Amino acid sequence: MQISTTHNPQPVDDARLAEILANPGFGQFFTDHMFTVEWTPDAGWHGARIEPYGPLTLDPATAVLHYAQETFEGMKAYRHDAGSIWSFRPEENAARMARSSKRLAFPVLDPQDFVAAVDELVRVDQRWVPDAAGEKSLYVRPFMIATEKFLGVRPSQHVTFMVIASPAGAYFKGGVKPVTLWLTEEYTRAGRGGMGAAKTGGNYASSLVAQQEASGQGCDQVVFLDAQEGKYVEELGGMNMYFVFDDGRIVTPGTGTILEGITRSSIIELAGKLGHQVEERKFSIDEWREGVSSGRITEIFACGTAAVVTPVGSLKWDGGEVSAPASTDLTMKVRQALVDIQYGRAEDAFGWMHRIV
Ligand SMILES: *Cc1c(COP(=O)(O)O)cnc(C)c1O
Repeated sequence: MQISTTHNPQPVDDARLAEILANPGFGQFFTDHMFTVEWTPDAGWHGARIEPYGPLTLDPATAVLHYAQETFEGMKAYRHDAGSIWSFRPEENAARMARSSKRLAFPVLDPQDFVAAVDELVRVDQRWVPDAAGEKSLYVRPFMIATEKFLGVRPSQHVTFMVIASPAGAYFKGGVKPVTLWLTEEYTRAGRGGMGAAKTGGNYASSLVAQQEASGQGCDQVVFLDAQEGKYVEELGGMNMYFVFDDGRIVTPGTGTILEGITRSSIIELAGKLGHQVEERKFSIDEWREGVSSGRITEIFACGTAAVVTPVGSLKWDGGEVSAPASTDLTMKVRQALVDIQYGRAEDAFGWMHRIV
């Protein structure tokens, strides 16, 4: 893939950039450039370019605005102490976008081109990658949208893949603290044959009302159960779950209707190396309630690119509550191990890190 570059004639000045990077928050500020490549049946993928960041002009009849044919990814670029910049398992994000693309009836972008696009944007906007201090990073958001101007229902004949980036502060300000969860019994996020395993905006649209319910109940996040029986734990709105037993075993819900997190699969490998047996299987909500009450479940945690790993506290539902498990020791150990690899403070024994600059 040949990428042409048009530099932004008015990049954010150094003083303003320093101000932004001192307190970036999440998803509020965007770098000076963006990457775009387009697809049509005749030309295939073409016109790969980096150009100044700015608004898109879309016809009101653009397909994505009506039928939500879209998929996205979320990943981070980390600055190491020596100044180099790295991403974490980008080929996994590329492979997942290829899987999501198939589910959304999109053409597949070559995973190598996906990684090249992310690398080139981060390289051009490298001054936007914050110092590692305080777990800051550059959050990278690749996404694919149906850009054909047509109101008929069929796969779009014009597709646009873009990459944008936004500096991100630490997910937890003032230290890691357990999230409280609300169990929704009214809403589900994915059914058999649905889009649960694809990273697509529609799943998030579907989760918002349940998240609203959780907030109304004073909880941080919502837990979804399987759609068929309403019995098995799936995941949170955007994080996968882990249950730690007193004999060292760790259970995580199996795949199919959950989104297969890259953090999730990395933890399966890491936990194995730390001497824990990891079981991927169905995990019922009753097993959660009984396990915490009896003390057999000693820790619960959730994971995803944004928060890395977060301990789970109490679980509330309509008419009941189960308190937080006793410990967060392994949770914090796994979290530290992963963060240390990402920021280059520990040996990358799995070969997960990919150097960009
Ligand atoms: C992105 C996402 C996750 C976490 O995946 P990571 O690759 O670990 O960031 C979990 N659940 C949902 C629904 C997601 O969209």
